[in-house]
Amino acid sequence: MSQFWSPGVHQLTPYVPGEQPRQKLIKLNTNENPWPPAPGVERVLRNFEIERLRRYPDPEASMLREALAREYSVAPEQVFVGNGSDEVLALAFQAFFLHDAPLLMPEISYSFYPVYCRLYGVEQRTIPLDEQWRVDLDGFEGEHAGIVFANPNAPTGHGHDLESIKKLLQRMRERVVLIDEAYADFGGESAVPLIDDHPNLLVTGTFSKSRSLAGLRIGFAIGSSELIEGLDRVKNSFNSYPLDMIAIEAGIAALADRDYYEHCRRAVMATREHTRQALEAMGFEVLPSQTNFLFVRSTHQPAADIFAALREHGILVRHFNTEQLNDFLRISIGSEAEMQALIEALGEIGAR
Ligand SMILES: *Cc1c(COP(=O)(O)O)cnc(C)c1O
Repeated sequence: MSQFWSPGVHQLTPYVPGEQPRQKLIKLNTNENPWPPAPGVERVLRNFEIERLRRYPDPEASMLREALAREYSVAPEQVFVGNGSDEVLALAFQAFFLHDAPLLMPEISYSFYPVYCRLYGVEQRTIPLDEQWRVDLDGFEGEHAGIVFANPNAPTGHGHDLESIKKLLQRMRERVVLIDEAYADFGGESAVPLIDDHPNLLVTGTFSKSRSLAGLRIGFAIGSSELIEGLDRVKNSFNSYPLDMIAIEAGIAALADRDYYEHCRRAVMATREHTRQALEAMGFEVLPSQTNFLFVRSTHQPAADIFAALREHGILVRHFNTEQLNDFLRISIGSEAEMQALIEALGEIGAR
């Protein structure tokens, strides 16, 4: 509390990201990629001429937008980039969701969405997940300022197929439908092919997960040129240069190396399946996942106890201390060796 704060700041409830520990722990708590960035990224960083940093970067990050446009078979005017997809989401909330009606979102989804609602004074209406922990797309109805959800969803891991998304978009044409595809590269179906038929569809993505670049902060959005123009207007009223030169050039290099990207995401998915089998064999309930994490429930012990015991073993996972998620742990997919260490630690703890 401070007399110097604007009144609204007292009411904010900021997002709390997963811990970034100083000690050397096996880190399975923030869904980072166990693989290093593409070799081309290293070349960009090694060969970067420091002298160039005197200059401002390209405010439009045009080369990165063009590279993303090629990657997703869309026009550069249909692509927006920002400093991590968190920033892109924040700009999208401001650009599209300030209407006189509630924003619709799943009751359980990325916990940053309610934080933006408070920041911008957007009323929210949450729709419960169905009994299989899936986003209830039919539950989105009634007057609204827009719709936001992650597909595949976090922290549950389930993704809807394109047909289901299409059905939703056929009913919802008045306001923006924002689909956060942070995890789509790990087995989900991207809705990007639907943007030409749906000018109100905005898809966001990130280089933090499937491109192993969480530290560089590169996020993007793909949608109709009118939505992208709306985002540009807000962005250019806030920060002209959200992406620095290094992020722009490393991002382009990451996109250029298709084979490496394919190799890494397939390896993560294979490790996810091995881990799922091992956890199920131990007696855990594991929700189906199209992401780089598993959402896991013990039928015998409080998840908080397993979380604490794993930490003692030098392994960090994520536990959400809310009534509905209390029984679960969210476990990021690390390397095969890290997941082996996890399974062994769970065995020693006697968790099941
Ligand atoms: C990780 C994550 C993001 C944020 O990604 P950044 O690009 O690192 O800001 C956005 N949405 C969801 C659902 C995520 O899990």
